[in-house]
Amino acid sequence: MNKYLFIFILLISYNSFSQLNFKTYFKKAENGFEFLADNNEYCPVSVEVDLELVNLSTSNGNFKTYLIPARTKDFVITTLKAIKAGKYKYNSKTRYNYGDFATKVKDTVAVKDKDTISVKKKDTVSNQEYIYNLPYKKGKKFKVSQGYNGAETHQKKNALDFLMPIGTDIYAAREGVVIKVVDYNTKTCITKGCLEYNNFILIYHSDGSFSEYSHINTNSAKVKPGYKVTKGQLIAKSGNIGWSTNPHLHFEVFKQEIIKRETLKTKFKINDGTEASVYLEENVKYQRKY
Ligand SMILES: [Zn+2]
Repeated sequence: MNKYLFIFILLISYNSFSQLNFKTYFKKAENGFEFLADNNEYCPVSVEVDLELVNLSTSNGNFKTYLIPARTKDFVITTLKAIKAGKYKYNSKTRYNYGDFATKVKDTVAVKDKDTISVKKKDTVSNQEYIYNLPYKKGKKFKVSQGYNGAETHQKKNALDFLMPIGTDIYAAREGVVIKVVDYNTKTCITKGCLEYNNFILIYHSDGSFSEYSHINTNSAKVKPGYKVTKGQLIAKSGNIGWSTNPHLHFEVFKQEIIKRETLKTKFKINDGTEASVYLEENVKYQRKY
Protein backbone atom coordinates (compact mmCIF):
# COMPACT_ATOMS: atom_id res chain seq x y z
CA MET A 1 0.00 0.00 0.00
CA ASN A 2 2.63 2.55 1.00
CA LYS A 3 4.67 1.96 -2.13
CA TYR A 4 1.94 3.81 -4.00
CA LEU A 5 1.79 7.52 -3.92
CA PHE A 6 -1.74 8.59 -3.30
CA ILE A 7 -2.75 11.86 -4.78
CA PHE A 8 -6.02 13.12 -3.45
CA ILE A 9 -7.90 15.35 -5.78
CA LEU A 10 -10.64 17.58 -4.48
CA LEU A 11 -13.80 15.83 -5.46
CA ILE A 12 -16.01 17.92 -7.62
CA SER A 13 -19.35 16.21 -7.69
CA TYR A 14 -22.38 17.90 -9.07
CA ASN A 15 -26.00 17.00 -9.39
CA SER A 16 -29.22 18.88 -9.73
CA PHE A 17 -31.18 16.84 -7.19
CA SER A 18 -29.41 17.65 -3.96
CA GLN A 19 -32.76 17.60 -2.19
CA LEU A 20 -32.67 13.80 -2.37
CA ASN A 21 -31.48 11.95 0.67
CA PHE A 22 -28.71 10.36 -1.35
CA LYS A 23 -24.96 10.64 -1.69
CA THR A 24 -21.98 9.00 -3.34
CA TYR A 25 -18.47 8.91 -1.92
CA PHE A 26 -15.05 7.31 -2.17
CA LYS A 27 -13.56 5.18 0.56
CA LYS A 28 -10.04 3.86 0.85
CA ALA A 29 -9.75 0.12 0.30
CA GLU A 30 -6.96 -2.34 -0.25
CA ASN A 31 -4.78 -1.19 -3.13
CA GLY A 32 -7.28 1.43 -4.18
CA PHE A 33 -10.73 2.72 -3.39
CA GLU A 34 -14.37 1.88 -3.37
CA PHE A 35 -16.97 4.16 -4.89
CA LEU A 36 -20.10 3.88 -2.78
CA ALA A 37 -23.61 5.26 -2.35
CA ASP A 38 -25.96 5.85 0.56
CA ASN A 39 -29.63 5.89 -0.40
CA ASN A 40 -31.80 6.99 2.49
CA GLU A 41 -34.88 7.34 0.30
CA TYR A 42 -37.81 4.91 0.51
CA CYS A 43 -37.56 4.00 -3.17
CA PRO A 44 -34.67 2.98 -5.40
CA VAL A 45 -32.50 5.74 -6.79
CA SER A 46 -30.80 5.54 -10.18
CA VAL A 47 -27.46 7.27 -10.48
CA GLU A 48 -25.58 8.14 -13.67
CA VAL A 49 -21.88 7.91 -12.95
CA ASP A 50 -19.02 9.53 -14.83
CA LEU A 51 -15.71 8.65 -13.16
CA GLU A 52 -12.52 10.36 -14.16
CA LEU A 53 -9.77 7.83 -13.42
CA VAL A 54 -6.03 7.99 -13.86
CA ASN A 55 -4.07 4.78 -13.23
CA LEU A 56 -7.11 3.11 -11.67
CA SER A 57 -9.22 0.25 -13.00
CA THR A 58 -12.92 -0.07 -12.22
CA SER A 59 -14.49 -3.45 -11.45
CA ASN A 60 -18.02 -2.51 -12.45
CA GLY A 61 -17.62 -0.21 -15.42
CA ASN A 62 -18.07 3.51 -15.85
CA PHE A 63 -20.39 5.94 -17.67
CA LYS A 64 -23.36 3.81 -16.65
CA THR A 65 -26.57 4.12 -14.71
CA TYR A 66 -26.50 2.15 -11.49
CA LEU A 67 -29.50 1.20 -9.39
CA ILE A 68 -29.22 1.74 -5.66
CA PRO A 69 -31.93 -0.05 -3.64
CA ALA A 70 -34.12 1.87 -1.19
CA ARG A 71 -32.73 2.49 2.31
CA THR A 72 -29.24 1.14 1.61
CA LYS A 73 -26.01 2.35 3.17
CA ASP A 74 -22.47 1.72 1.90
CA PHE A 75 -23.65 0.23 -1.39
CA VAL A 76 -20.53 -0.51 -3.46
CA ILE A 77 -21.02 0.83 -6.98
CA THR A 78 -17.55 -0.15 -8.13
CA THR A 79 -14.10 -0.98 -6.79
CA LEU A 80 -11.09 0.98 -8.03
CA LYS A 81 -7.69 -0.71 -8.09
CA ALA A 82 -4.32 0.85 -8.78
CA ILE A 83 -3.07 -0.36 -12.16
CA LYS A 84 0.63 0.24 -11.53
CA ALA A 85 2.86 1.95 -9.03
CA GLY A 86 2.82 5.69 -9.34
CA LYS A 87 0.43 8.57 -9.21
CA TYR A 88 -3.24 8.12 -9.68
CA LYS A 89 -6.33 10.20 -9.27
CA TYR A 90 -10.05 9.91 -9.29
CA ASN A 91 -13.02 12.21 -9.57
CA SER A 92 -16.73 11.70 -10.01
CA LYS A 93 -19.63 13.42 -11.64
CA THR A 94 -23.05 12.06 -10.81
CA ARG A 95 -26.65 12.78 -11.65
CA TYR A 96 -29.39 10.92 -9.87
CA ASN A 97 -33.07 10.82 -9.25
CA TYR A 98 -35.85 8.71 -7.76
CA GLY A 99 -36.76 5.42 -9.36
CA ASP A 100 -35.35 2.67 -11.45
CA PHE A 101 -34.73 3.89 -14.96
CA ALA A 102 -32.00 1.39 -15.55
CA THR A 103 -34.62 -1.33 -15.88
CA LYS A 104 -37.66 0.89 -16.71
CA VAL A 105 -41.23 0.84 -15.52
CA LYS A 106 -43.02 -2.34 -16.47
CA ASP A 107 -45.73 -0.93 -18.69
CA THR A 108 -46.10 -3.79 -21.09
CA VAL A 109 -47.05 -7.42 -20.73
CA ALA A 110 -45.66 -8.32 -24.14
CA VAL A 111 -43.24 -10.78 -22.63
CA LYS A 112 -43.06 -14.30 -23.96
CA ASP A 113 -41.59 -15.95 -20.92
CA LYS A 114 -44.36 -17.58 -18.87
CA ASP A 115 -42.61 -17.19 -15.52
CA THR A 116 -41.99 -13.51 -16.09
CA ILE A 117 -45.66 -12.91 -16.84
CA SER A 118 -46.81 -14.71 -13.73
CA VAL A 119 -44.33 -12.85 -11.56
CA LYS A 120 -45.48 -9.53 -12.99
CA LYS A 121 -49.14 -10.31 -12.46
CA LYS A 122 -48.50 -11.32 -8.90
CA ASP A 123 -46.06 -8.65 -7.82
CA THR A 124 -46.68 -5.66 -10.00
CA VAL A 125 -49.52 -4.20 -11.98
CA SER A 126 -48.56 -2.02 -14.89
CA ASN A 127 -49.96 1.42 -15.52
CA GLN A 128 -51.80 0.21 -18.57
CA GLU A 129 -53.72 -2.32 -16.51
CA TYR A 130 -54.09 -0.53 -13.23
CA ILE A 131 -57.45 1.02 -12.34
CA TYR A 132 -57.11 4.05 -10.07
CA ASN A 133 -59.63 5.21 -7.50
CA LEU A 134 -60.95 8.74 -7.69
CA PRO A 135 -58.84 10.46 -5.01
CA TYR A 136 -61.69 11.59 -2.80
CA LYS A 137 -64.34 10.29 -0.44
CA LYS A 138 -67.20 8.00 -1.34
CA GLY A 139 -70.25 10.09 -2.29
CA LYS A 140 -68.24 13.11 -3.40
CA LYS A 141 -68.41 14.46 -6.95
CA PHE A 142 -65.86 16.85 -8.43
CA LYS A 143 -65.15 18.35 -11.82
CA VAL A 144 -61.94 17.81 -13.75
CA SER A 145 -61.16 21.48 -14.42
CA GLN A 146 -58.04 20.74 -16.46
CA GLY A 147 -57.40 17.40 -18.13
CA TYR A 148 -54.61 15.62 -19.94
CA ASN A 149 -52.65 18.00 -22.16
CA GLY A 150 -54.82 20.88 -20.90
CA ALA A 151 -54.58 24.37 -22.35
CA GLU A 152 -53.18 26.05 -19.25
CA THR A 153 -50.56 24.38 -17.05
CA HIS A 154 -50.97 20.85 -18.44
CA GLN A 155 -49.63 21.43 -21.93
CA LYS A 156 -47.90 18.23 -23.11
CA LYS A 157 -48.50 16.80 -19.66
CA ASN A 158 -50.74 13.98 -18.52
CA ALA A 159 -52.07 15.55 -15.35
CA LEU A 160 -55.53 16.11 -13.86
CA ASP A 161 -56.93 18.99 -11.81
CA PHE A 162 -59.92 18.21 -9.61
CA LEU A 163 -61.78 21.37 -8.62
CA MET A 164 -62.58 21.09 -4.93
CA PRO A 165 -62.92 23.35 -1.89
CA ILE A 166 -59.94 23.84 0.42
CA GLY A 167 -59.95 21.20 3.16
CA THR A 168 -61.44 18.36 1.10
CA ASP A 169 -60.15 14.94 2.19
CA ILE A 170 -57.71 13.41 -0.30
CA TYR A 171 -57.57 9.61 -0.54
CA ALA A 172 -54.78 7.61 -2.17
CA ALA A 173 -55.77 6.63 -5.72
CA ARG A 174 -53.33 3.72 -5.64
CA GLU A 175 -51.39 1.87 -2.94
CA GLY A 176 -47.68 2.44 -2.52
CA VAL A 177 -44.90 3.79 -0.35
CA VAL A 178 -44.76 7.46 0.57
CA ILE A 179 -41.48 8.92 -0.69
CA LYS A 180 -41.80 12.62 -0.02
CA VAL A 181 -44.16 14.91 1.84
CA VAL A 182 -44.03 18.70 1.65
CA ASP A 183 -46.84 20.48 3.48
CA TYR A 184 -45.02 23.37 5.18
CA ASN A 185 -45.53 25.93 2.41
CA THR A 186 -48.16 28.64 2.76
CA LYS A 187 -47.72 30.78 -0.34
CA THR A 188 -49.99 30.85 -3.41
CA CYS A 189 -49.73 32.73 -6.65
CA ILE A 190 -50.85 32.33 -10.25
CA THR A 191 -47.39 32.50 -11.80
CA LYS A 192 -44.69 29.88 -12.27
CA GLY A 193 -42.59 31.64 -9.64
CA CYS A 194 -44.72 29.92 -7.00
CA LEU A 195 -43.80 26.44 -8.26
CA GLU A 196 -41.16 26.19 -5.54
CA TYR A 197 -43.83 26.70 -2.85
CA ASN A 198 -45.81 23.64 -3.88
CA ASN A 199 -47.09 21.33 -1.16
CA PHE A 200 -47.28 17.74 -2.31
CA ILE A 201 -47.15 14.04 -1.52
CA LEU A 202 -45.17 11.63 -3.67
CA ILE A 203 -46.04 7.91 -3.66
CA TYR A 204 -43.99 5.10 -5.22
CA HIS A 205 -45.92 2.21 -6.85
CA SER A 206 -44.94 -1.44 -7.18
CA ASP A 207 -44.40 -1.13 -10.95
CA GLY A 208 -41.82 1.64 -10.50
CA SER A 209 -44.12 4.56 -11.33
CA PHE A 210 -45.02 7.42 -8.98
CA SER A 211 -48.07 9.52 -8.23
CA GLU A 212 -48.06 13.10 -7.05
CA TYR A 213 -50.84 14.89 -5.19
CA SER A 214 -50.23 18.64 -5.32
CA HIS A 215 -51.36 21.91 -3.72
CA ILE A 216 -52.38 20.17 -0.49
CA ASN A 217 -53.23 22.38 2.44
CA THR A 218 -50.54 23.56 4.87
CA ASN A 219 -49.83 21.02 7.64
CA SER A 220 -52.56 18.71 6.35
CA ALA A 221 -50.56 15.57 5.45
CA LYS A 222 -51.61 12.43 7.33
CA VAL A 223 -48.64 10.39 6.13
CA LYS A 224 -44.84 10.58 6.28
CA PRO A 225 -42.01 9.24 4.11
CA GLY A 226 -41.77 5.49 4.56
CA TYR A 227 -45.46 4.98 5.28
CA LYS A 228 -47.13 2.25 3.25
CA VAL A 229 -50.49 3.51 2.09
CA THR A 230 -53.40 1.46 0.91
CA LYS A 231 -55.67 2.41 -1.94
CA GLY A 232 -58.40 4.67 -0.55
CA GLN A 233 -56.42 5.74 2.53
CA LEU A 234 -56.80 9.32 3.74
CA ILE A 235 -53.49 11.07 3.01
CA ALA A 236 -54.11 14.84 3.22
CA LYS A 237 -56.53 17.69 2.76
CA SER A 238 -56.71 19.67 -0.44
CA GLY A 239 -55.62 23.28 -0.63
CA ASN A 240 -54.54 26.03 -2.94
CA ILE A 241 -50.82 26.21 -2.23
CA GLY A 242 -48.01 26.89 -4.72
CA TRP A 243 -48.56 27.77 -8.38
CA SER A 244 -52.33 27.57 -8.40
CA THR A 245 -55.16 29.72 -9.69
CA ASN A 246 -57.92 28.24 -7.55
CA PRO A 247 -58.49 25.58 -4.89
CA HIS A 248 -57.95 22.17 -6.50
CA LEU A 249 -56.05 18.91 -6.36
CA HIS A 250 -53.43 18.37 -9.06
CA PHE A 251 -52.83 14.65 -9.64
CA GLU A 252 -50.30 13.05 -11.93
CA VAL A 253 -48.76 9.62 -12.44
CA PHE A 254 -45.32 9.44 -13.98
CA LYS A 255 -42.19 7.50 -14.72
CA GLN A 256 -39.14 9.35 -13.49
CA GLU A 257 -36.13 9.82 -15.70
CA ILE A 258 -32.86 11.47 -14.75
CA ILE A 259 -34.09 15.01 -15.40
CA LYS A 260 -37.65 14.89 -16.61
CA ARG A 261 -40.79 12.96 -15.91
CA GLU A 262 -42.83 11.03 -18.40
CA THR A 263 -46.40 11.60 -17.26
CA LEU A 264 -48.90 8.84 -17.93
CA LYS A 265 -52.61 8.61 -18.69
CA THR A 266 -54.33 6.32 -16.24
CA LYS A 267 -57.79 4.77 -16.06
CA PHE A 268 -60.14 5.44 -13.16
CA LYS A 269 -63.02 3.62 -11.61
CA ILE A 270 -66.07 5.93 -11.73
CA ASN A 271 -69.64 5.94 -10.37
CA ASP A 272 -70.32 2.69 -8.52
CA GLY A 273 -67.41 0.95 -10.22
CA THR A 274 -69.51 -1.54 -12.18
CA GLU A 275 -69.05 0.16 -15.54
CA ALA A 276 -65.87 0.21 -17.59
CA SER A 277 -63.03 2.27 -16.20
CA VAL A 278 -62.23 5.45 -18.13
CA TYR A 279 -59.64 8.11 -18.83
CA LEU A 280 -61.06 11.22 -17.16
CA GLU A 281 -62.02 14.14 -19.38
CA GLU A 282 -61.83 17.87 -18.87
CA ASN A 283 -64.99 19.67 -17.69
CA VAL A 284 -66.72 16.46 -16.67
CA LYS A 285 -67.81 15.79 -13.08
CA TYR A 286 -67.01 12.37 -11.67
CA GLN A 287 -68.71 10.86 -8.67
CA ARG A 288 -67.18 8.26 -6.44
CA LYS A 289 -69.98 5.95 -5.29
CA TYR A 290 -67.73 3.10 -4.25
ZN1 LIG B 1 -52.67 20.89 -12.53
